[in-house]
Amino acid sequence: TPILCWLRRDLRRADHPMLAAAAATGRPVIPVFLCDECVETLGAAPKWRLGEAVGAFGEVLEGIGSGLVLRRGRALEQLQRLIEETGAGAVWWSRLYDPAAQARDTGVKAALRAQGIDARSFPGHLLHEPWTVRTGQGGYYKVYTPYWKAVRGRPVEAPLSRVTALRPPAAWPPSDNLADWALGAAMRRGAAVVARHAAVGEAAAEDRLAEFLDRRISGYRAGRDLPAGNATSRLSENLVLGEIGPRRIWHAARRLWEDGIGGAETFLKELVWREFAYHLLHHFPELGTANWRPEWDGFPWRGDNDDAERWRRGMTGEPFVDAALREMYVTGTMHNRARMVAASYLTKHLLTDWRVGREWFEDCLIDWDPASNAMGWQWVAGCGPDAAPYFRIFNPAGQAEKFDPDGAYRRRFVAELSDRPGAEALAFFDAVPGRWGLRPDTPYPAPLVDLAAGRARALAAYQGFKG
Ligand code: FAD
Repeated sequence: TPILCWLRRDLRRADHPMLAAAAATGRPVIPVFLCDECVETLGAAPKWRLGEAVGAFGEVLEGIGSGLVLRRGRALEQLQRLIEETGAGAVWWSRLYDPAAQARDTGVKAALRAQGIDARSFPGHLLHEPWTVRTGQGGYYKVYTPYWKAVRGRPVEAPLSRVTALRPPAAWPPSDNLADWALGAAMRRGAAVVARHAAVGEAAAEDRLAEFLDRRISGYRAGRDLPAGNATSRLSENLVLGEIGPRRIWHAARRLWEDGIGGAETFLKELVWREFAYHLLHHFPELGTANWRPEWDGFPWRGDNDDAERWRRGMTGEPFVDAALREMYVTGTMHNRARMVAASYLTKHLLTDWRVGREWFEDCLIDWDPASNAMGWQWVAGCGPDAAPYFRIFNPAGQAEKFDPDGAYRRRFVAELSDRPGAEALAFFDAVPGRWGLRPDTPYPAPLVDLAAGRARALAAYQGFKG
């Protein structure tokens, strides 16, 4: 009987344990993608990017004589329908670890098994299953460095070779048309603006990795903190959709590390931050919604407010912060240094709840990841495990001086700072909704808060909160 391969964030052929296992059975394989409860609730940019990825992977599967069946509706119901239509005896998928996906998958597994279906989940999204890394006392790691020490020498399975053929079923069940799902509807700037910066699909991800390892990894350590440079891999966008698997990246970079190539260890450590985020999310599923340190529930955060709206619009009058927010709006990603500074400014200078910022990132990032985004925000805000202490407040002007000394990053994204603004700076004004009322000749705003006063207010709030 056929196997339904339910694809989610694993849109690749190389190092795909589930697809490889299905191919090896010699049974007919029906790849399926569902626009289900977890897809419907995605933010605008991640949903648009997912649609691009699904379209690309469908074509790849057709290219090897297979296909991708698309269905919309609640996952369990759609899978049961497909089982009825195709006589499939198995539903297999690659594991996900965020609470929404886990709740869905646990329910699906129990219900399908109860009806005698071989419902099975496979690894592949991470280097290490989050529950397999344990401290000496048997608990989970809350601090990154010991986590890194625990996993840096741990064996990681070698990546599996690319699946080259999947036996098609005798008859394909009907499929929806991807365009009818309108996954980009909430993201009108997707195709026009953000697409220029996206690298969609497995082949593009592989090219990105090869190019990074060949030419740029040796400059990674020195350059990775400079947002104007092009020193990082940009693979986050591909990793979140499984267009490339982490084991592939790990082994390729690990070889360079063993060869003594500078930058390789630093890069591997960053890849392991992603693992650590999933480790934390697994053990604290509320990482995206609740303060990891419960005492922070009493912190006087402001809820959403007019200053936060100016922050979202890249109109705080603080050039480094505005460049960061505008970079995200027009490219769908934001440099890591800029993420830290933008998040710090919101939670400290603007004294605004980290969840307000987390939600905006969730709506705008094409590399939105449920674990890394949540961890990043709690880290900056000071309420997370292994977090930067709240009183360590980034000064955005000082950060700009240090990490964008010639102003190239700020000018690249903030048109008002340049006599002859470039395409990306101007693209922001094409991209923003008309109701924001922004045009390139809108005067650049005065700073929303005086940096010293904002810092003093944040520290006073912290002092008061501590008792
Ligand atoms: P590289 O420097 O090339 O690193 C390689 C890979 O390592 C990345 O692709 C990523 O998978 C992983 N990685 C690197 N840094 C981190 C980190 N600090 N935390 C977790 N994983 C890391 N990353 C996301 O993928 N999705 C998010 O939604 C996200 N939200 C963030 C929110 C905040 C407030 C902060 C401070 C960080 C966030 N990050 C997020 C982490 C980080 O900024 C991005 O992973 C990184 O900028 C991606 O660029 P790159 O692929 O060029 O990274």
